[in-house]
Amino acid sequence: MKLPYAEPYRIKAVEAIKPSTRRQREKWIKEAHYNLFNLASEHVFIDLLTDSGTGSMTDNQWAAIMTGDESYAGAKSYYALKETIQKIFGFEYFIPTHQGRAAENVLFSALVKEGDIVPGNSHFDTTKGHIESRKATAIDCTIDAAKDTQLEIPFKGEVDVEKLRAVFERYPKERIPFCVLTITNNSAGGQPVSMKNIRETSELCHSYGIPLLLDSARFAENAYFIKKREAGYGSKTIKQITREMYSYADMMTMSAKKDGIVNMGGFIALNSKEVFEVAKRFCISYEGFITYGGMAGRDMNALAVGLDENTEFEPLDARMRQVAYLGKLLDRYGVPYQRPAGGHAIFIDAKKCLPNVPKEHFAAQTLAIELYLEAGIRGCEIGSILADRDPVTRENRYSDLELLRLAIPRRVYTDNHMAVIAAAMKNVMARAKNITTGYRIVEEAPILRHFTVKLEKIEE
Ligand SMILES: *Cc1c(COP(=O)(O)O)cnc(C)c1O
Repeated sequence: MKLPYAEPYRIKAVEAIKPSTRRQREKWIKEAHYNLFNLASEHVFIDLLTDSGTGSMTDNQWAAIMTGDESYAGAKSYYALKETIQKIFGFEYFIPTHQGRAAENVLFSALVKEGDIVPGNSHFDTTKGHIESRKATAIDCTIDAAKDTQLEIPFKGEVDVEKLRAVFERYPKERIPFCVLTITNNSAGGQPVSMKNIRETSELCHSYGIPLLLDSARFAENAYFIKKREAGYGSKTIKQITREMYSYADMMTMSAKKDGIVNMGGFIALNSKEVFEVAKRFCISYEGFITYGGMAGRDMNALAVGLDENTEFEPLDARMRQVAYLGKLLDRYGVPYQRPAGGHAIFIDAKKCLPNVPKEHFAAQTLAIELYLEAGIRGCEIGSILADRDPVTRENRYSDLELLRLAIPRRVYTDNHMAVIAAAMKNVMARAKNITTGYRIVEEAPILRHFTVKLEKIEE
């Protein structure tokens, strides 16, 4: 008999989680004003709110924590991380920051000015926020296929090169400080970008004299998909693929809380000495001195180990298999999601699951609450609450896609947890036709309202 697959690790420390009753969850979610961000984590059984900063570190990373150098300037930990980043990505210059959005803040302070245009593929919300807060405009050039949740294509996160060319033709070069390519494409469902698309985007950018920035939170997962799905890469290592991806780029911003598998951290890396010199100054005022920039020495150490370990095939393979396994169970139960299963999460198509909930009642949020009530599972609405109101008309911007994101933390839950998630979704689906009402907003912030919004249930 062929032996089944098993994870290439064993578990050294465990954290208890507590199941709860439906009655308790009804009370807790009501007290949280039907906003899952307001729930105490103790009131959650399986937490799929995000895969950011929620992974579990290896014994080697914990050992590196103990040898962190906390010197204010010139710490050993800084040099260890710098060397690892040079080896993995090939960039000459590096600036540590406390997380991904801080890397954006520091770099964009140096590069983006009022009136600028920054094209890319589904800019992440903090990326877009740091562009728009500088009165510049983000233009989304993602391929149209990304919007069709049922279409199965191998690289669904790509940039449409013709859309990008149109932007370059329309605006003068001086107004386009860079193009941002997000790998994997988080907002399109953790969908990857092929090497061919990275290369073609790079060639197009450079032919117009525009630098290419890789927004790199899940670069290792992207490299894994290239190895698995793109012709010519099957026998290359993740590290070789990574080096090639970054050979086409001029700079990167990184949220290390994802593929760096640390609880907090981020960085900028780049080739241009001029940009580095300007960004350095912003690092000092916003983050800290350039040899720690918002990170403790021990965290830089853990990140250096995390980057090196997570650019090997085995840990990535274990993770992707788990996300795909959840996808397979959902297929068995007829639960529709953004296909194929993404790198870090499953995005459930809430409009298809809850066809009788009107768009004004927020279908994805309604589904998130149903799943919590069913089994204490916390997902995240990626729909019309997240989309905020139109800045001019103040009307709700109902998004084309109402998605419930189930983000899988790295090395945290077992396949038994995946089975519970799928079974809970099956139970919700069994009563979905009878769910005809959702929630209305009673209190909201003017922007990024999803974090603090208060809702109330609309009675039938
Ligand atoms: C998480 C993320 C960011 C922001 O990083 P934080 O560490 O959360 O500040 C930026 N871009 C992408 C693609 C991300 O996934």
